[in-house]
Amino acid sequence: MSCSCQENDNEKDNFLPFPAHFSTLALHAGQEPERWNSLCVTPALVLSSIYKQLSPVERTPYFYGRMDNPTRDVLEDCLAALHNAKHCIVFSSGLGAVCCLLGLLQTGDHILCGDDMYGGTANTFSTVGGSFGMKVSFVDSANPQEFLEGIKPNTKMIFAETPTNPCMKVIDIRLLAKVAKRNKLMLVIDNTVASCYLQQPLSFGADIVISSLSKYYNGHSDSVMGALIFNNTELNSKLRIIRSLLGSTPSPFDCYQVNRGLKTLGLRMKRHSSNGLAIAKYLNSHSKVERVLHPGLPCHPQHEVARRQMSGHSGVFSFYLKGFEDDCKRFLKSLRYFTPAVSFGGTVSLINMPNTTTHACVPPERKRKVGITENMIRISVGIENIEDLMEDLKWALDGCGCCSSTAQ
Ligand SMILES: *Cc1c(COP(=O)(O)O)cnc(C)c1O
Repeated sequence: MSCSCQENDNEKDNFLPFPAHFSTLALHAGQEPERWNSLCVTPALVLSSIYKQLSPVERTPYFYGRMDNPTRDVLEDCLAALHNAKHCIVFSSGLGAVCCLLGLLQTGDHILCGDDMYGGTANTFSTVGGSFGMKVSFVDSANPQEFLEGIKPNTKMIFAETPTNPCMKVIDIRLLAKVAKRNKLMLVIDNTVASCYLQQPLSFGADIVISSLSKYYNGHSDSVMGALIFNNTELNSKLRIIRSLLGSTPSPFDCYQVNRGLKTLGLRMKRHSSNGLAIAKYLNSHSKVERVLHPGLPCHPQHEVARRQMSGHSGVFSFYLKGFEDDCKRFLKSLRYFTPAVSFGGTVSLINMPNTTTHACVPPERKRKVGITENMIRISVGIENIEDLMEDLKWALDGCGCCSSTAQ
């Protein structure tokens, strides 16, 4: 069933250009030595949770660690600049950011979501939102028309991932923004899979970008954080209060780590992207692979949309092995460089089976509908040498005999 994609020698030409000045901004925005009395060139890691008041009745700009921290400010300023946005607020996790969005809504409000999304986000909306009396419904993540038809009188927010995790559906952000605007709804786009190096949803009309920073932004799988990025100043004060009240403020150390990760984001994304596409093409042509879901392949159903709004695809994508759960397990076990683990976006290649791990809590009928099956494998291609990664996959598919029971 693999599609016979036309090889395009210069696949970069299929996508938007990489964002100009990105790496310069990543290195300089918010990083000014003049912010610090010491003029330190590398931003300081300030762990203090309290600040001396100038007098017993005077409140200083920095007040208490749950609200303010100078190391956190450095990261927020840099991330806002990378999104060409006015405001960024960071959180103790991606889901911490999702919870703060719920703080903008009220009992009885309806959230309209794409049907393919990070399992934890769907679960937060249903469980936490549900217990606050909010309603959630899910429509086809790739179809703006379904979003239009799914709007109810009490709908307040449209929430969509693009590309989605794990099915890699792509939605036309410009079209969805039009739908949202016409109906006076807030459009939130989860940009975690692409990162702002490969996709800028605010420039296509989204109101808020949400991202887990635990993935590509930090990039080294050693911190958990999230962010909201937007231009509305009123929203900025509101969300900052909600973050403080919900207590989902990240630690200064994690902010320091992610700020450091941003310095190489552009370099890493290019490598993730080219390694990922090379592997997607290889798998797509392999007889033991049923189907590859990668927006950079011309056979991807929304490839045209992807190339209109992305500068390339990242290193995470999914595919279906011909066979059953046991075949997939044997395949995973015979790999050397792809570590079986959840999450994605780190330097090291990872592999997992969404059906039993990241998306285990998604109701079976929704899993069936979006295509999360027992033979689905999600791969996060790291920045290792591409020949080594290819050789590893070739061995697991052809050499070790682990997929021989079903494949022809
Ligand atoms: C990981 C992830 C999240 C949640 O982020 P955490 O930092 O793990 O809380 C949300 N959306 C997407 C698309 C993700 O991949």
